Amino acid sequence: MNGEYTTSAETAAMLDASDPLRSIRAEFKIPAASDGSEQIYFVGNSLGAIPARTFDHVGDELHRWAQLGVAGHFTGPTAWEPYHELLTDQMAAVVGANHDEVVVMNSLTVNLHLLMMSFYEPTPERHKVLIEDHAFPSDHFAVESQIRQRGLDPATSLVIVGPRPGTETLHPDDVLDAITQHGEQLALVLLPGVQYFTGQVLPMAAITRAGHEVGARVGFDLAHAAGNIPLQLHDWNVDFAVWCGYKYLNGGPGGAGGAYVHSQHITNQDLPKLLGWWGTRKDTRFEMATVFEAIPTVESWQVSNAPILSMAALKASLDVIDEAGGINRLREKSERQIAYFDFLLDTVLGPRIENLTPRPMHERGCQFALRVTDPAIDGKAIFKRLGSADVACDWRHPDVIRVAPVPLYNSFTDIHRFVALLDRLLDEEASQ
Ligand SMILES: *Cc1c(COP(=O)(O)O)cnc(C)c1O
Repeated sequence: MNGEYTTSAETAAMLDASDPLRSIRAEFKIPAASDGSEQIYFVGNSLGAIPARTFDHVGDELHRWAQLGVAGHFTGPTAWEPYHELLTDQMAAVVGANHDEVVVMNSLTVNLHLLMMSFYEPTPERHKVLIEDHAFPSDHFAVESQIRQRGLDPATSLVIVGPRPGTETLHPDDVLDAITQHGEQLALVLLPGVQYFTGQVLPMAAITRAGHEVGARVGFDLAHAAGNIPLQLHDWNVDFAVWCGYKYLNGGPGGAGGAYVHSQHITNQDLPKLLGWWGTRKDTRFEMATVFEAIPTVESWQVSNAPILSMAALKASLDVIDEAGGINRLREKSERQIAYFDFLLDTVLGPRIENLTPRPMHERGCQFALRVTDPAIDGKAIFKRLGSADVACDWRHPDVIRVAPVPLYNSFTDIHRFVALLDRLLDEEASQ
């Protein structure tokens, strides 16, 4: 495989020329570099770039608001009352779920709370929640507060599984063993599909099976997975999942997120649930009856009417993802970019840079978690100089530079330029 590559810029240009998705980049507006060209935008894991058509999609709804006012709720092909339905099929395709299992609503942490209300049903015997040691703080806070909300104590009800000493990523066996070990005391397993810091992909199907074997429910935070790697939530029997729309799904800052509930739970009226008027039957909703009649899909978890402007932005991006051929097609390109990036890291940067992300392709998405190995070189200084040189990437305390080449809009040339720049910056810092 690596035999195809050289370290020259021509190889990158050739890889771009033969990339069937190369034209998709033109669908995006990439932030400008100081010389007027485009940044190397490697932070789609944090805030995806804006599709050019987002201006029109959002503008259309602003115009409809101006022209129709409140009638916009019920008028035209993008009527606001059912607007979220326009996104359902595309979003379901992104996460590998059925039409009735996915809804775009709220933001990630809100959805996590709503679904934990339903799927964390502790009893005196079965009350523990298993999370990972390096969980995203919001997830950690959400779980702790859910535990306290039920009158329990995180000291006894929160189970944390971490990497083995001296390692950076979770050993999948350790996760499965922890599930088995806590067995009948385990009420809920809540893990990321892709770990936000290291970029590690967890074996979601195996974790779900292990959780179900001990009678626990299994939910995933897919913030870094949705739009990054192919998912099969329904076939894996995942009970529930949540994700945000503004990372790999390019829905814009603070934009609408997604939620998934497996079809086997959807009509279970015994599940506790926080109710709102957007979860009750659509045909009787405006009769303003106070008897809740759950919509027979995951939409019954909706609480409020939808934020149309941010949904319009997300819809623009989902259309672009469709035009690119969907997630599997994007993943094919992503794997080629990962292999090429690996080659350059090995060949050009060698031992000066360590990548914490697991090496096997099935254990990683497009994000790399890079660390400067030489203790004499200040990694943070390198990161700052990357920023000054118009590379958008991010720093994660204490010493990691996260970079994510996104197949929708990043080129092989972006990767080549990044590695060449990092090579030069390391040399300069080392000689100081
Ligand atoms: C980005 C991210 C969030 C963000 O939560 P919001 O509710 O959208 O602010 C939560 N969890 C993880 C793992 C994330 O990566």
